[in-house]
Amino acid sequence: MKHIGKSLVLIIIFILLLNLSAFAATNIASTQQGGDFRGLWVATVVNIDYPIKATTNSEVLKSEALQILNYAKNTGFNAVFLQVRPAGDALYKSKYYPWSKYLTGKQGVAPDGGFDPLDFWTSEAHKRGLELHAWINPYRVTKRSSGEPIHDFASLHSTNPAIKNPGWTVKHADGNIYLNPGIPDARQLIINGVLEIIDNYSVDGIHFDDYFYPDKNFSDNETYKKYNYSGKSLDNWRRDNVNKLVRDVSNAIKNTGKNNIRFGISPFGIWAKKSSNPKGSDTKGLESYSSHYADSLYWINIEIIDYIVPQIYWNIGYSIADYKKLSTWWENAVSGTNVDLYIGHAAYKAGNPDPKSPWYGAGEIERQLFLNDTSKIIKGSVFFNYNVMAKNTAITNTVKTIFNGRDGKAPKVAVSISRPTSNLTTSMSSFYLNGESDPSQPLYLNGKLVENRSPKGYFGVLMPLSVGKNTFTLSQSGSSDSCTITRKAETGSEKMSAVEIPTSSAFPQSQEYRVPGEKITLTCQAPAGSKVSVKLNGKTYSMKQISGSTNPSGLYKATYSVEYTMPSFTGTPRNINLGAPVYTVNHKGTVRTKKAPSNIGVIMRGSPYYAEAANDVVDTYNAPVSGNGAAFELYKGMVDSVTGMTGNYARLSSGQWVFKNRVRIYNQASPSSSIVRKATYETGKADDVFELTMTSLAATIVSYDGQNVVLNVSAPSSAAMPKLPANSLISTLKYSTGIYKTEYILTKKDGATIEGYYVEKTDTGIKLVLKRKPEVQSLTKPLTGITIMLDAGHGGSDPGAIGPLGTRYSEKDINLALSFKLKKELESQGANILMTRTNNSTISLADRLTISRNARPDMFISLHANSMADNVDISKIRGFSVFYREVLSKPSAQIVYDSVISEHGKNKHGVNKKNFYVTRNTWAPSFLLESDFVPNPVEFEWLTNDKEQDKLAKTISTAIVKYYMQ
Ligand SMILES: [Zn+2]
Repeated sequence: MKHIGKSLVLIIIFILLLNLSAFAATNIASTQQGGDFRGLWVATVVNIDYPIKATTNSEVLKSEALQILNYAKNTGFNAVFLQVRPAGDALYKSKYYPWSKYLTGKQGVAPDGGFDPLDFWTSEAHKRGLELHAWINPYRVTKRSSGEPIHDFASLHSTNPAIKNPGWTVKHADGNIYLNPGIPDARQLIINGVLEIIDNYSVDGIHFDDYFYPDKNFSDNETYKKYNYSGKSLDNWRRDNVNKLVRDVSNAIKNTGKNNIRFGISPFGIWAKKSSNPKGSDTKGLESYSSHYADSLYWINIEIIDYIVPQIYWNIGYSIADYKKLSTWWENAVSGTNVDLYIGHAAYKAGNPDPKSPWYGAGEIERQLFLNDTSKIIKGSVFFNYNVMAKNTAITNTVKTIFNGRDGKAPKVAVSISRPTSNLTTSMSSFYLNGESDPSQPLYLNGKLVENRSPKGYFGVLMPLSVGKNTFTLSQSGSSDSCTITRKAETGSEKMSAVEIPTSSAFPQSQEYRVPGEKITLTCQAPAGSKVSVKLNGKTYSMKQISGSTNPSGLYKATYSVEYTMPSFTGTPRNINLGAPVYTVNHKGTVRTKKAPSNIGVIMRGSPYYAEAANDVVDTYNAPVSGNGAAFELYKGMVDSVTGMTGNYARLSSGQWVFKNRVRIYNQASPSSSIVRKATYETGKADDVFELTMTSLAATIVSYDGQNVVLNVSAPSSAAMPKLPANSLISTLKYSTGIYKTEYILTKKDGATIEGYYVEKTDTGIKLVLKRKPEVQSLTKPLTGITIMLDAGHGGSDPGAIGPLGTRYSEKDINLALSFKLKKELESQGANILMTRTNNSTISLADRLTISRNARPDMFISLHANSMADNVDISKIRGFSVFYREVLSKPSAQIVYDSVISEHGKNKHGVNKKNFYVTRNTWAPSFLLESDFVPNPVEFEWLTNDKEQDKLAKTISTAIVKYYMQ
């Protein structure tokens, strides 16, 4: 067959373009677009791609065909390979083969109304500027699915050539029937079938895949004996049978005179390996030369095919069969011949969920296509298969973007690094870089290809840092950007210039108070390898070195410590000053002492030492650190006794710690405590109220575990317990009281819902409010009467998480956009919406909580998008999570989470309990959404997609309606 040169094809196109009416009806050459061939395999066997389900309904068959062709056109393909003979059958009207069961459900049954799929596909493909190649599986007669009988002649129609000529068939060990390639009449049938297609349809090509002999154990002894005229070995004879078919098909096509029809084959990607054939590739794996008897090299060398599409279905660098080695091998194979080389790509392997897999995301296909671009010999690609590609947006977008780039259709984007936002110095050993680029061009980071960019060209890469200056340069054609990250050297042991105890290291730095029997740690720094002791309250204690070498050469700073138990005292409860500890170091005979800057004291139980909340709200903490979030809150004027003091914190009798500067601490001459005088319980439509009357305002904290509301008051009680009304939210009210405090336990009734709880000051004491769940009033607007507060995270000077567009579009913008969309959705359901932030303003976490506390909404939702530390590869982390603190918030948080996971198919990061500032609204269900990860390029694209935000808002709103309808 004569090869059509590229220039001739271009001349033909030019002539066709001059005559537009002819253009529509005539084949279009493949090189019309970017010059490269872009094929898509559409498999019909076992309904892999078409039709979705066998049917005689020609309208369904047409509409599915158009969907595939439109996909091919929109993605930028210029050729479609339609499998028209999946297994001894036809997707067109044939005099040799029955209609395919994969088409209509039963072999031999035609589609309704005389519909001919191949005719339709061909004309519709041409209307779209696509070539249509008829893909034939030459030898296969049956393709057994699991559960189906083996060698199933009964499934074949009476017109099937295997029924008419059972002697041409072989029952193979895989349970399938094959035409015997050694029988000349069987080969002639295949040739006739090809000619029939060419005569009746204006297809652009005839295409065989890799199915020749199924394997070596083929039962063809009789045929071998009968037809092996020239005494070939079995292997050579079988190969010759395949070669004859390929040669005869080629000649038959040539003899039709239709020079525009191209004949090509897509063999298994390994012809032979070097270890078994010196001409083979440097790979391992199955060899089509000896396993399928497919001698592609022979077909290429004598040019009986127009193109070859080796199925190189392995990744670059794969140890057994490296894509790069194989593509180079095939380049050498076609070099100097008129056979075009296209690569068959395993698009079906892309999208592996394992970030460690080379097939994770669309990266491998992207790498392969960019590698092909560096070749002058590879003229195109064919992708297997339609269905998996159409379902995988990432792979479709990647392929489309690269096609667009080759066509010069992609928008040019300058490379820019958004993360880090500026050059920086860090002690981390790696850093995650983010930014944007032109997606249609390969992007290089210090010369290495950047993988798995998003369709818009956003990238995220974790780079290791060496100690000192690290310069990262991102570059692609005509554009580059750089940043510098300096990694600090490990701070080893710090040198000291003299034997001493630094004042700033001597504990305590501020007044320390504890109760008798409590243990504290006395600590200081001194040169490593010294003898260090501390004197406190008349006694000396030797200290232990807890850091650094114990025998260094030179003076290096080390930490010393000893545990100290607070002594007991008798007599009137009071505070006792033990003085400041005095530390002594002895380093090789050099002795120095240092007195700590502050004193240590003992607070005896019942000591009249008090703290009064000085701010409207004073947060309390479980330990003298605020980093883990506050536990409870006290209100202005509430008084409790002080039982400890360390650093900036004071401890109250409840065991909770508060910042010293948020309370007024004072001594009194004699103890004076509040007393609870009266307790009442009332029920209402929205709330139940448990009210305590006190002689003065005692500190009160409250918690709820889903069963019991526990109210702790730092005052004894003389009040009788009220009788509970029949419709109360709680079943029992118990209390226990002592000299210093009273604990009330309110147990929830079975089946009742406590939707929120909080303590408020009254003129005569406090009240505990238990919120009832709002009832749905209107089915058309189910959120009528319900107030929901939306809290768009971050804002103003706080951008939140930074992603590929840096501060141009950071988390604060995503959160605000989503909050407005959610507002609209919830309002359409009747809800009253309050917002903590409606513009790009800076609002502290405390202020957000205060806004909520003042408004007492029925629900509080904080909107955030996620991130990770700078030394994490966030390109490989995706997913959605919800956080809540209060047990009562879990049901609503869970519904929203489940809905988002199922509607949007997100990776599951769970519904997690965490003490975030803004999830501390105990007065109503309150949760925080962490939508996708901002620095993840693909997730960032989702987060910033207006339509996806609309959908997410709708999902959340629907879930909230569902919560209230329950
Ligand atoms: Zn955030």
